[in-house]
Amino acid sequence: MKYDAGPASAQQVLSAIEDAIGAVPFPICIYDQDDTLLACSDAFRDAAGAIFEGVGPHAYEHSLKYEDIVRCRLSKQFPEDEVPARLMAEMKRHRVQDEMSVDMLMDGQWMRRSRIASKDGNLIAIALPIDEIVERTAALSRAKREMEHQAYHDPLTDLPNRRALNEYLSRVFDSDMMLDDVAVFHVDLDKFKLINDTMGHDAGDSVLLEAAKILRSEVRATDFVARVGGDEFVLVFTSLIDRENIANVAQRIVDKMSQPIYYDDQPCQIGASIGIAMREAFTTPERIIMDADIALYEAKLAGRGRFSFYHAGHRAKHVAFKRRVLEVREAIQLNAFEPFFQPQICSKTGEIIGFEALARWRDREKGIRPPSEFLGAIDEANLLFELDEMIIRKALRRLSDWDADGVSVPMVSANLSTGILMKENLTDHLKWMCDAAEIAPERLGLEVLENVVVDDQNGVISQNVRQLKAAGFLISLDDFGTGNASISSLRSLAPHRIKLAQEFVTGIHCDEGLQTIATAIIGLAQSLGMQILCEGVEGEQDRRVLEAMGCDYFQGFLFAKPMEDIAVPIWIDDYYEDTGHTLKRA
Ligand code: GH3
Ligand code: MG
Repeated sequence: MKYDAGPASAQQVLSAIEDAIGAVPFPICIYDQDDTLLACSDAFRDAAGAIFEGVGPHAYEHSLKYEDIVRCRLSKQFPEDEVPARLMAEMKRHRVQDEMSVDMLMDGQWMRRSRIASKDGNLIAIALPIDEIVERTAALSRAKREMEHQAYHDPLTDLPNRRALNEYLSRVFDSDMMLDDVAVFHVDLDKFKLINDTMGHDAGDSVLLEAAKILRSEVRATDFVARVGGDEFVLVFTSLIDRENIANVAQRIVDKMSQPIYYDDQPCQIGASIGIAMREAFTTPERIIMDADIALYEAKLAGRGRFSFYHAGHRAKHVAFKRRVLEVREAIQLNAFEPFFQPQICSKTGEIIGFEALARWRDREKGIRPPSEFLGAIDEANLLFELDEMIIRKALRRLSDWDADGVSVPMVSANLSTGILMKENLTDHLKWMCDAAEIAPERLGLEVLENVVVDDQNGVISQNVRQLKAAGFLISLDDFGTGNASISSLRSLAPHRIKLAQEFVTGIHCDEGLQTIATAIIGLAQSLGMQILCEGVEGEQDRRVLEAMGCDYFQGFLFAKPMEDIAVPIWIDDYYEDTGHTLKRA
């Protein structure tokens, strides 16, 4: 029958359907219950062939019958004498299956025709190629699965992510598991940033991948391992839990992680610290994660490369520390750190050879605060570079002001943390800072801790130190004797000067043990052609002993405590006046 489009609104609906399906890139068509074509895609017209010649944009106006379309298509595909039999077979199958759906072959593709009831109760049908449907459905469910996987997994290691962890823990806590059957490890790699900084991000990624594999292989298949952040992992154990067992697993992980991981045949030395929390009455999933984090902080504080169980006493300390981290972030932004200056004195002439610039925090509320109150938080906030830079910049500016005012300060020295020593172009950057303050590099001393040698993964630090020396900066090895690397650091850094740590100096006049150590170190420095500066000189008797031993320079409360910049010129005048030494004007 000719399709009676009825009122204008029905025609509009059909036109809209034609518009919608017209550009679909495969044959698709809609029939009414009398097998009259209502709408179809352009691809369907192409597949059907000549019957559509002269058919305008509105197929429903042409009363094309299903049977005629099939005949036309068949005669395109098969010899004329085969067409009637094939048509009969197709129509037979079409009618038999019409109640539910009809399969038909269209241009070499199987189509599935599904019946749909239109609003007025008439039945229409829609046909789609089966392959297309199967493929599209499979692709859709693949995409859905992929999206779900991505939402719950970390792309680098493919371990579950924080979201997966939260949901897993909620399920565990909702189950009727025994209370103390749940333990959570918060694992954070030690000094991982060094790998990124010295060997590049790819090396860092590869180490993370390997670390993930190690963690996975050190626990049972039923234990849960997630990567929750940069170098942070959370492990959840839900059975066979007792403290000793847990401690054994933790120690095993710590030991395994302390072995070098290889990247491009190069050893990367990391390590891991672990905070452990166990489920107790009223613990929530959020709480157990937080407790493990607190315990992790304790493990880091205790020296890294170890594990620590949470206990309630840690909490207040941790909260205070986190608050401090926020405060120091703000203080860095406010430029609130400044150098205090402590003089360094020549043992033979009594002259001031320079000042060490020591960082202090000028807190709006609490006044001047010492490094013990901010260094840990600055480190946690990854702001050591910013701090070092701020202190050096301000110290250079002061030096330049003193030059302008005729105050005789030969040089200032400042501390360089490991992080800053890793920076590419460090020498150029420091030279640029000196240029900006119109200070020669020879007047800026740089103090590095001997332990940097332990962190010197790829020799980057030693190379930077070599460049710094070549550029004229004076390098001192700070706190010598307290780290783990004394002799090897002397060899690889070859500094101009060694600063003997306070603990070998203070009280030396009455301590034979200290005298033996100091004599050995001073002898070592002299034989290597290095100067030696003793820190922590607090008494005249100590000074005399050290002078007799051949120490070159002193620094300590005997001369002055670290002082504000404005106090320096007055102190210099007083010092030379009191000691009778000649003031050398710059
Ligand atoms: P700590 O011993 O105190 O843990 O210090 P750390 O050097 O390990 O540094 P921290 O744990 O504070 O920071 C982890 C670093 O991991 C910070 C970031 O630069 C790096 N990182 C985060 N995500 C990725 C990543 O996907 N790939 C790589 N290569 N590095 C990452
Ligand atoms: Mg870390």
